[in-house]
Amino acid sequence: MDFLKPRYTPMNRRRRIYEGKAKVLYEGPEPGTLIQHFKDDATAFNAKKHEVIDGKGVLNNRISEFLFQHLNDIGVPTHFIRRLNMREQLIREVEIIPLEVVVRNVAAGSLATRLGLEEGTQLPRSIIEFYYKNDQLNDPMVSEEHITAFGWATPQEIDDIMALAIRVNDFLSGLFLGVGIRLVDFKMETGRLWEGDLMRIVVADEISPDSCRLWDIKSQDKLDKDRFRKDLGGLIEAYTEVARRLGILGENEKVQSGGPRLVQ
Ligand code: UDP
Repeated sequence: MDFLKPRYTPMNRRRRIYEGKAKVLYEGPEPGTLIQHFKDDATAFNAKKHEVIDGKGVLNNRISEFLFQHLNDIGVPTHFIRRLNMREQLIREVEIIPLEVVVRNVAAGSLATRLGLEEGTQLPRSIIEFYYKNDQLNDPMVSEEHITAFGWATPQEIDDIMALAIRVNDFLSGLFLGVGIRLVDFKMETGRLWEGDLMRIVVADEISPDSCRLWDIKSQDKLDKDRFRKDLGGLIEAYTEVARRLGILGENEKVQSGGPRLVQ
């Protein structure tokens, strides 16, 4: 009686396109689409530090959905189509540009170390940096010269990426300021989206407390992945607080950990 069974593709039989540290990409339901699955894995220092934090993937899926949907709504193009379930979203397949684009408003992390600035110093203006995505090389910082010489992106594409980065930064800074959070810095990725013969650069990957520094304006508490990097504890509580302030979760609501899980 096989025909009575619901038709669905079990998780472990979907074609896995790529597995990263915190996410997995599966083939999507239609050509040109993919499914982005958020895992609970937290890594830092190029995966030298690793932990599974129950519920992190569910929170990042919701927070990233919220931010990407709003970016789409204000006309900043992204790969995001819609959220599918607790851990997964439907996205457009793009050709990822192998750069991590970091935008900084306040000195912290590697910038504070590199230039000997005190953490928390407001920068004279927002600064954009590029890092070459390569784990073996520890994601080295690169300049526009390197990017164009090695063909990772053209000068026109770099201009487009920087214009996108500034729009995303202005939007996110204002959004977080409105809920009492300071956007210190964040990392974004971009990709080439092909529509026939036309190509445009869109924001890709995720934007979540895993890829931003978010400080509570009143208490200065860190509400981001630095809680894991610096062993401060309370990561889920911090990410839940971000989700609550953004209105994604109700006052007393908690995310249910769970949702479809990866079969190892
Ligand atoms: N970041 C990220 N992925 C990386 C490196 C950095 O999401 O592989 C984010 C990080 O969370 C922070 C910003 O980019 O919001 C700037 O990070 P920084 O260069 O200070 O590096 P870190 O101190 O995190 O090593």
